Amino acid sequence: MKKMAAILLSATLLLSACSGNGETATTAAPETTAAETTAAETTAKAAEKDGAYTPGTYTASAQGNNGPVELSVTFSEEAITEITIGEHAETTGISDAAFDKIPGAIVKNQSLGVDAVSGATYTSNAILEAVADCVTQAGGDAEALRAVPVEEDGETANAVLEDAEVDVLVIGGGGAGLSAALSASQEGASVILVEKLSALGGNTFRCGGAFNTADPERQKDIPMTDALSSAVEKVLAHENVSEEHAKLKAEVQKQWGEYKASGNTMLFDTPEWHALQSIDAGDYEGNVELVRTLTSNTLDTLNWLTDNGVEWTDQVSTVVGALWNRSHQTPNNSGADIIAALEKNATESGVKIYLDSKAEELVVEDGKVCGAVVTNADGKKVTVKAARGVVMATGGFSANVEMRVKYNKQWEDIGESLTTNNTPGATGDGIVMGEAVGANLVGMGWIQLMPLNSVSGGGISGYVNSSLYCNKEGKRFVAEDQRRDVLAAAVLAQTDKLFYIVCDQKEAELRGMTPEVLGYMVQNGLVYSGETIAELAENMGVPADALEQTVAEFNEAVKAGKPDEFGRTTWENTIEVGPFYAPSFSPAVHHTMGGLEINGNGEVIDTHGQVIAGFYAAGEVTGGIHGTNRVGGNAVPDALCFGKIAGANAAANK
Ligand code: ADP
Repeated sequence: MKKMAAILLSATLLLSACSGNGETATTAAPETTAAETTAAETTAKAAEKDGAYTPGTYTASAQGNNGPVELSVTFSEEAITEITIGEHAETTGISDAAFDKIPGAIVKNQSLGVDAVSGATYTSNAILEAVADCVTQAGGDAEALRAVPVEEDGETANAVLEDAEVDVLVIGGGGAGLSAALSASQEGASVILVEKLSALGGNTFRCGGAFNTADPERQKDIPMTDALSSAVEKVLAHENVSEEHAKLKAEVQKQWGEYKASGNTMLFDTPEWHALQSIDAGDYEGNVELVRTLTSNTLDTLNWLTDNGVEWTDQVSTVVGALWNRSHQTPNNSGADIIAALEKNATESGVKIYLDSKAEELVVEDGKVCGAVVTNADGKKVTVKAARGVVMATGGFSANVEMRVKYNKQWEDIGESLTTNNTPGATGDGIVMGEAVGANLVGMGWIQLMPLNSVSGGGISGYVNSSLYCNKEGKRFVAEDQRRDVLAAAVLAQTDKLFYIVCDQKEAELRGMTPEVLGYMVQNGLVYSGETIAELAENMGVPADALEQTVAEFNEAVKAGKPDEFGRTTWENTIEVGPFYAPSFSPAVHHTMGGLEINGNGEVIDTHGQVIAGFYAAGEVTGGIHGTNRVGGNAVPDALCFGKIAGANAAANK
């Protein structure tokens, strides 16, 4: 995700999950109460430990993934009887499994030795830490409770996978996997999907879900400016690099000529222009045919998602690194909306989903991939045979430092010094499994850094139309509408590798920020704010006169609507309506462009250029589409379009 992904991650997380005003968030996990009935069973066990508690209810908080997690714990003299989760900003879905499992396990076992839930480690640890604090407040011994053994829970909330036979096996439950599973099922295949974490969603879930597609209806009110025209002319002026590129360029040239002759003053866009721009942004390393497959399927896939319950706003914008006004968004600005719809429809369509189930290796018979060995939720190895094929959708390897360092050829340092904002499941498993059965790997050296990884903890807008980026000196340093690799490299050259996104109240409202969310972020120091630019600058710790001048020059440039000194071409609104906001950011590893080679059918190609029978792949586990640099807002469509294609083709492989 893309994956985050496309939109500003923390903005989305806060948008979709944070609470404000001391009230429980509407979209955060509802107050969770551990089963009180289990307390009596365990009182005896608790009584064995040193010391009793002072009965009562105690409150504490500890740092989770997105901010503090508050909870209260009720004690009898002898036991922890109830844990109630209070206010928190954790992301719904990602943290659900932790809130569902950890409090119950603590109460049941009277232990703080409960394991963190995979995929929700920070939330799990926050719960454990806050409960430990309450134990101490109640006069108990938290250290001793950490040593109390935890009984294996025989009942797993999710079904446990056993040996099985099915038409199509999908490995990975992110956007690509769920889309493949739904599409295979809709084509009449029986489908099993295995996901190694305790929750579905991968990076699509974590990201803003920005979805790029040319869309005449939604783009009809966006004006075409001189600056945008010059961007088209520039890409069309590039020398031909291959026959496929020359052909694509000629098609766009023709469309562009017709567009200009028509006198149309609204935004120019077509699937071919989207493809050509993506190829250009990836330094002509992407496979033109695959990119064309992508951009000619995006609108159909968007409509397919709509048919399956995903809502989209009428407004399209330019998510960071998207280069054009074609990023669609859900009403919540969240990829979680897409995942929820895919999961619901896949389940209703009969797809069997198994969580905590990790594919270890592919099964090959007579040269055909026909299944996989999976470690199930009980830790047992089982085999799933898939008569029609396997779709690999395990994502990239941003969370695998060793693989990053091994393959990187783009950045000076891609190791431990950089964090990732990806799902912890992005460890490159599918690339390793694919390589083991002869798959060819392409583009492995290209790794995307997302410039917008929040340092202050919050975010307002990941769209570049009406915001400016400034450094610690209060000055702009890059064209905000540039490619992500250009942005990341520019940020890495700034003081402390850090920058701020400055926007105003108008932009915050346009991005769906409610007063509650804004208030929460400001109160908790997740974004800096000020009634005036000078006050904002003071709170940020940057020179006020420099920031005032920067904003004034930005507003002039918006009014002029022409490329500025940095070459920025995307302008929409000025920054004039207070209060003003500025969260801070630094780059993080975000997307690995390389992976398994596929063709336009989603079939995996071997090192001899041949299709590997029964083997399909989609999403970030694949390579060759984005070249050196993935366009912002192209990852979610990549995962979903190719997931849909691969799933349908696997289902048809009778
Ligand atoms: P994409 O955008 O291509 O769908 P994501 O990274 O969003 O990629 O999702 C990939 C999903 O695959 C993640 O949820 C990850 O936990 C899961 N996954 C990774 N490796 C395995 C594996 N070996 N077995 C099952 N699931 C896996």
